[in-house]
Amino acid sequence: MSLLSIERLALAVPAGREWKTLVEEVDLTIGRGEAVGLVGESGSGKSMTARAVIGLTPPGARLSGRILFEGVAVPSGRALRELRARRIAMIFQDPRAHINPVRSVGDFLTEAMVTNLGVPAREAVARAVRLLAEVGIGDGARRLRQYPHELSGGLLQRVMIASVLAVEPDLILADEPTTALDVTTQSEVMAILDDLRRERGMAMLLITHDLELAAATCDRLAVMYAGRIVEARPSHELTAAPLHPYTSGLLLSRPSLEEVAHRLPVIPGRPVAAFEADPGCAFAPRCAHAMPSCGEARPPFDGTVACVRAAELTLQGEP
Ligand code: SF4
Repeated sequence: MSLLSIERLALAVPAGREWKTLVEEVDLTIGRGEAVGLVGESGSGKSMTARAVIGLTPPGARLSGRILFEGVAVPSGRALRELRARRIAMIFQDPRAHINPVRSVGDFLTEAMVTNLGVPAREAVARAVRLLAEVGIGDGARRLRQYPHELSGGLLQRVMIASVLAVEPDLILADEPTTALDVTTQSEVMAILDDLRRERGMAMLLITHDLELAAATCDRLAVMYAGRIVEARPSHELTAAPLHPYTSGLLLSRPSLEEVAHRLPVIPGRPVAAFEADPGCAFAPRCAHAMPSCGEARPPFDGTVACVRAAELTLQGEP
């Protein structure tokens, strides 16, 4: 049984008298200890999909489909809060927006241990110091007395990771956890998150626009476009031989360390949200392989790819 199973998820938000669809027919599973990357550009619906798992959808949002955790529908109300406190944790892009600025780092780190796990306060402080050391922050006792504004973005994201480890959830939802950081700090923070997650056997859904980062970190990848999954496969297979033209375009538009390219290929046009997409394949206006038949109906996702020409196309993978 999968740890998390998302079945035919659809999500729409009210816009005046109409509904704007943001996510359509998303199927996704995550096994215990597995890392899955949900990759897509802004507006593809990846963050909304992850947030739907723990009920963090916009006010008035309309949801359909099923979200199961260990085979049981994710609850609402108090039971959902309990699930979020112990079993599923989220790491957000901007830690500053999710840490109370007037509480110390120590309060932030020990509160969940004391309240949710019943750890005595003194033991929680000792554990917090150990956790800070694990995420590469020395002098923990002093750090616990500091306030969020005294820490850099990179340090604060490490504190956020330490707070997740404190509870040892079964599943981490990491929503662009390194996007707000500078490049060097990005790779350090991602390496820490990945190492500690593996050591503890925690599963992760990594939401990112960075296909390369997701491929380096995750066992499987699901690529989203206009609110739908268009390709989902083991990371090494997807990057070596993509089946969907959008995945191929994303791979080819990355710079290569081996080859000097004076101009990188780009995917023409701009990404669209689900509610903006024309009938038929949402990627058709940008696709070099589009045929008139591509515009007739949304290509069904067969569990691997959603492209009516996937079987006949030979696409390029990693540059
Ligand atoms: Fe391109 Fe057609 Fe495949 Fe869509 S269905 S990705 S337009 S080839």
